[in-house]
Amino acid sequence: MKLSETDLRQLNKDWVLGLQPAHKDRLLLTLIDDLREARESLAANSNNSSRPPRSDVPWLSASPTEPQTTAPQESSPEDENKADTDAKTKKPAPSSPSAQTPPQAGNKPKVGHQVGTPGHGRALTLPVSATHVHIPSHCAVCGEALDANNFHAQGGHYVLDIIITQHLGLEGISVIHEKHIYGEIACTCGHLNHSVPGSCPDESSWEKLSMNERGLVGPVLASLIVCLAQRMRQTRRQTQEFLHDWLGIDLSTSTINRCIHEAGRAVEPLEEELVKEIKEAVQLGADETTWKEWGLLLWLWVFITPTVCLYLIGNRSKEQLANLLGEQFNGWLMSDGYRVYREYKNRLRCWAHITRKARGLEEAFNAEAVDFGKQVNQWLEKLMQAIYKARESPPQICLTITFAAELAAFKQLCERHRDSEHEKTRALAREFLLDWDAFWVVLKYPYLPLTNNEAERALRHWVIARLISQGTRTEQGTRAFGLLASVIETCRMRKILPWPYLAKVIAERRKGNPAPSLASAAISASK
Ligand SMILES: [Zn+2]
Repeated sequence: MKLSETDLRQLNKDWVLGLQPAHKDRLLLTLIDDLREARESLAANSNNSSRPPRSDVPWLSASPTEPQTTAPQESSPEDENKADTDAKTKKPAPSSPSAQTPPQAGNKPKVGHQVGTPGHGRALTLPVSATHVHIPSHCAVCGEALDANNFHAQGGHYVLDIIITQHLGLEGISVIHEKHIYGEIACTCGHLNHSVPGSCPDESSWEKLSMNERGLVGPVLASLIVCLAQRMRQTRRQTQEFLHDWLGIDLSTSTINRCIHEAGRAVEPLEEELVKEIKEAVQLGADETTWKEWGLLLWLWVFITPTVCLYLIGNRSKEQLANLLGEQFNGWLMSDGYRVYREYKNRLRCWAHITRKARGLEEAFNAEAVDFGKQVNQWLEKLMQAIYKARESPPQICLTITFAAELAAFKQLCERHRDSEHEKTRALAREFLLDWDAFWVVLKYPYLPLTNNEAERALRHWVIARLISQGTRTEQGTRAFGLLASVIETCRMRKILPWPYLAKVIAERRKGNPAPSLASAAISASK
């Protein structure tokens, strides 16, 4: 826009009528330019710009002839000039992670109950379905078998969990409430053997979150809570309501929140397995969108291969990417035009982004933009047909050679528009020129993907979760969210049911054992 709001406020009738003819003409042309730009901006939607689908007006449904190339995009990271937003310093997280009320700008609501509010203790109202007495079988010193009659109970705790039951051949969920008793037993050698609930040693970055078998919520119930909160995108209160209404389980929202964080801690060791596969990937899709942690702007990154989906929440910076991929990544990296990706040599650019932008230009009021948009889309369409054909039967001559002359002509077209007065035309022409090789490498290797749809789709679910929950509230919550999202999504890609696997990981880690690997989950699922 050439005229600012302050400029417009000053334009009154008398003043305009009193202008000299030459000045009046100039003002008229400026106003026409501004009007066109405003109209184009009004007509922008997810089909013809980088706007996300949720910004579309509800009555505007996608045309049924819409091609597959219109996957959602949540941010517009193409602009290579866009400043990093990671310069913000991290603010200390609020002390309690329990409540889910979104933060208000400039007026942070206090988390949790007010001081003095009566607490909610758990009254033991559920009957005990089973009692487990944990008696050591052999002496830890001499190895002799121990006589269970000498066992002295010293303490115990209750575990609330769910199990899948069979009734008349049909599956159902049953709640179990079990009592676990621990104690000591003396051996004839004089050694006193103790039984204690399993526990995981302290791990850095999870200092305030213990992980042991003493917890009230059993591993399968914890897995269900993660499913409701993350996969089904329910708030802590809705999860609480569901458990109460359908299973008669009463848990506080802070217990629910703690279960989710603990599950995040439990799966943390699996991240290494995922990162290793990402680093060795032949083909990797990457994308990023904004994320909020208690009002602090962060980025949710996704890295996706055919068998691994990894989410990281952090800054939007070169270091973030380098930490994951290392300085050397030899696979093909499909991404948008964000400049940090340009450090990597084997890059691919998503054509769907470009098609959307070119469509936006075709609908512009500027004749140059309309013409350029049309030419871009015709050119991409022609290449796409050739690529699809080459995938079916490899051509005798490489497509790079077949289209060499036309590619050179297209480059000249982009050069002609690189300084266009129409901003979006100029931006698109420059985007092509800046990433020239990354756009056309697919001509040489037609089996490579044309779009980054997989990565965009992998972000979509969690973007909706972010919109519902307003993001996360603490560093620990953010970490747990990314870890659990990675495991859940990777399981889904590998056709493994995430929930029994997650329950198993939680159970083993509470005992202090290593997390069963994702590869082992795949083996057991295929049995
Ligand atoms: Zn002994």
